[in-house]
Amino acid sequence: MGELRASPDFTVLVNGKVYQSPPNYAADVGPTFAECMIIRDGIIQYVGPEADAEVEAAKVSGATIKDLDSQTVLPGFIDGHLHILLLGQSLTKVGLEACKNLKDIRTEIKRYTKTHPDVPRIFCRGWMHSMTPDGVDSTLLDDLDPRPIFVDTKDLHSTWCNTVGLKEVCRVMNIPEDAPDPAGGTFQRGKDGKLNGVFNESAVFEYIWPFTARVASIKERKESIKAAIKAFNSVGYTGMVDMAMDETIWEPLVALRNEEGLGGMRISAYWLMKPSNSLQDVLPQVDRAIQLAGQYNSQSSPDCRVVGIKVICDGIIDACTASLTEPYSTGTTPDPIWPEDFLHPIVSKAHAAGLQVALHAIGNRTIRMAIDVLEKNTDRSGRPRIEHIELCDAEDAARLGKLGITASIQPVHSDPAILRAWPRLIGDRRCKRAFAYREFADGGAPLALGSDAPTAPHLPIPNMYVATTRRSYREPGLETVINPEFALTVCQAAVAATHGSAYSTFADEWTGSLRKGLKADFVVCNVELSPQSLIKGVVKETWFEGTQVYKAAEYGSDVTGLE
Ligand SMILES: [Zn+2]
Repeated sequence: MGELRASPDFTVLVNGKVYQSPPNYAADVGPTFAECMIIRDGIIQYVGPEADAEVEAAKVSGATIKDLDSQTVLPGFIDGHLHILLLGQSLTKVGLEACKNLKDIRTEIKRYTKTHPDVPRIFCRGWMHSMTPDGVDSTLLDDLDPRPIFVDTKDLHSTWCNTVGLKEVCRVMNIPEDAPDPAGGTFQRGKDGKLNGVFNESAVFEYIWPFTARVASIKERKESIKAAIKAFNSVGYTGMVDMAMDETIWEPLVALRNEEGLGGMRISAYWLMKPSNSLQDVLPQVDRAIQLAGQYNSQSSPDCRVVGIKVICDGIIDACTASLTEPYSTGTTPDPIWPEDFLHPIVSKAHAAGLQVALHAIGNRTIRMAIDVLEKNTDRSGRPRIEHIELCDAEDAARLGKLGITASIQPVHSDPAILRAWPRLIGDRRCKRAFAYREFADGGAPLALGSDAPTAPHLPIPNMYVATTRRSYREPGLETVINPEFALTVCQAAVAATHGSAYSTFADEWTGSLRKGLKADFVVCNVELSPQSLIKGVVKETWFEGTQVYKAAEYGSDVTGLE
């Protein structure tokens, strides 16, 4: 992955604010800092005052002195939940985020087709159902371009394509014209009963994602992964937790690692279980994860590991596919994607084999089921986790900590700018339970902060801003505050975004905080650690194992890092 800048392997960082992570998620702890840090051979050797014999000795023995100029040093961020290949691919997709309606979407796509005559397919992102209240089908895109066109919703739970694109997906993925809906998802159909160009939920995860990965060559997939790593290094990440790993991603990831290394990034992955009506189809998927974890683990390949399995147990609130205990205002009451009696043997098998278990659960009914399943089949020694936990009843929020279940949360999903449909869908009373992060922390649950990129913006400091202010990062002028009583403190958010995500995959032994003996993974940033100020925070440098892998252009002579 190109040359990393050869950094002096013995450095004394002085005159800084080296953040010291508190030992737990207590709400009454303010940030504390050390002034000086010594790194050598990629490891933190010392953190403390500059007036110390050890610092003096290092200076005398020729260490490089780096003046931090009062800037803040935080542990390298670790994204606790993302999708690396999709992220890399999304970096080149046509962004539709600013569109307001169908006309805008068509204009934007048309503009792209004219400036990109050579790409074989047109991929777009950022569509929201609210932009197209009358619904969509393939014909609305057909006159724009003869090439296949694919449009993802912002949350990635639906994909809309033109007729050529639909035909290609059906051909490549062997979907017959009269295919029944997959378990946990739907194909949108026209009046004639035939597929008409929209895939929802598991139909996206099972058909569109593998299709997109498959039509990309392995070289393109490697390039996408590299682009994702580079983008993440440049905003302060030194670690990623991929939440939907499969063969189409694993193959190029391992190839890239073996050929060039992963640069300044450590990646741990949860192997995605594909839904099926037969347990016989699912248990072999657990076997595959066990096999890979045996081969790629913290001993053999700490930079690239399979740590567990991921099960997507329901959908999302906006599409009314998250499973709730009471009906949506539309009258629907969807079931979880997986029946509970399926989850028991899957989770039990994974846990017995030493795999971690991550369950996606957004609606309160699914969250309760997920906790029940983890309670019965795992224990805190395996650091089980639940992803998202968006609409959780108070009694269940309290159970997370009791059972040692990591609350894997993505504050960017709680941005008020994207929650406008919620009051209409679930009513004000239930909205009062949305994103109850503080209850998770108060109940003693470990927290892991993530972005779920590319479904949401991936900048780590703005993510902390939303977590601590409960206000919008997407629309900073928006005054709406979502359930401010559930806000995390700055320290809770900072720890969750670093140590917490490391802890969630057993990586806290070597990274996630700035302590003697840990890897020298850190960021230098201009940030004031108070909720309202976080939105202005900027990462200036990213260091991975004592090597600088990113430096902001305007801040120094050049941009270093991965080419
Ligand atoms: Zn996700």
